[in-house]
Amino acid sequence: MHELSCPSCNSTAQFNLQNAVHVCQVCSTSFTLDLDTGQKEIFGDHYIIPNTTNAPDVKSASHEWLRRMHHRPESADEEFVVLDVRGMSLPFWVTSIDAHTVWRGLVKRHGRNTLNLRPGSNYLIENGEFRRSYRWAVSARNNICETWGLTRLHSPKEAVAVDWDGFPLDSTFSRGRMEPATEQVSIGGDEESGGVYAQREFFDYKYSNGLSIMSTQVDSDEALRRARRHLELYHSRLADLDVDYLVDIRTEMEIAGIQLIHFPVWHATYQYRPQSALKHFYRPVVKNILIDGNGKGIMKSELAVIHNDKVVVNAIVCALISAMFLLLGVLVHPAFYFISLFSLIVSGASAFIALSKSNKQTKQGLNHGALNSVVSSSTEQPAESAAS
Ligand SMILES: [Zn+2]
Repeated sequence: MHELSCPSCNSTAQFNLQNAVHVCQVCSTSFTLDLDTGQKEIFGDHYIIPNTTNAPDVKSASHEWLRRMHHRPESADEEFVVLDVRGMSLPFWVTSIDAHTVWRGLVKRHGRNTLNLRPGSNYLIENGEFRRSYRWAVSARNNICETWGLTRLHSPKEAVAVDWDGFPLDSTFSRGRMEPATEQVSIGGDEESGGVYAQREFFDYKYSNGLSIMSTQVDSDEALRRARRHLELYHSRLADLDVDYLVDIRTEMEIAGIQLIHFPVWHATYQYRPQSALKHFYRPVVKNILIDGNGKGIMKSELAVIHNDKVVVNAIVCALISAMFLLLGVLVHPAFYFISLFSLIVSGASAFIALSKSNKQTKQGLNHGALNSVVSSSTEQPAESAAS
């Protein structure tokens, strides 16, 4: 921490020099500091999306979402418990980027000749190109796992594996809205006027409406570098979809501009406590929901009962049936041994599937933020603000 005076209103306060952008708590002016020269410069491209919701509303929105997801909506309120709701205003670097990709690859011929045996004759050379524009958001926090789900906000329409953390702003912040018709009118004809991006205001503490402002730790150079890398990966996965072997690819990017934007994000955790017979087999797990604090959409969520849970239940039930018929086999007729054996096989197979899936899930858990459980078990608000 270091004492600095604001270049705009001259009031002094303590600032963390490690941060990339500093914000004056008195007048909300953003500025950068050159550590070598001590030169301060006012940073104008800092915006904030107003937070329009609060903890009770987020809680009821979570309940509303759970009701819609549950197979018996009327019992959802009894079976789901929202444990914790935390809101924060998170900084993202948003780059307006135009990416043009040219590729060449090999496509396998289908059902053709066995006569022509020239080497490589089974493949056709294909060329292609595509161009896309993005407002690409990259987290300005060093630890992208500190908020559950933030590392994987990109959910592309195409069947590609996402292993980067950046995401296209507009499609991410427009998803999961539960009352599109009324909501959009009240926040100003949302979709046509440019989505959540159009809601931005020049940075001022008042727009956080009570949320703590998380500090900006990553500078714009790193953000640009990461955005370029994300798009290179994304476009190469897209080109991969069209060919069997991608031979060459070149992605040229035009950067139209980069802005720092604070977004209101709410993180809710909940637990499913089934009232039915399932409760004897189901071990309650903390699950997560990420809600956009401006449009109130569900940006990312975990379902209460996933396929894996059902497979586990199946394994247990089949094992019980197997034991029962084994007993009947001993007491009544040896034919019951066959039914017992069959149930045992089903049970074993279920257990195997469940185990192999849960291994995969641990890895996904990492993707979604390894600090997930740590975050959800602490109820305190992030004690950090821009000036810390
Ligand atoms: Zn100031």
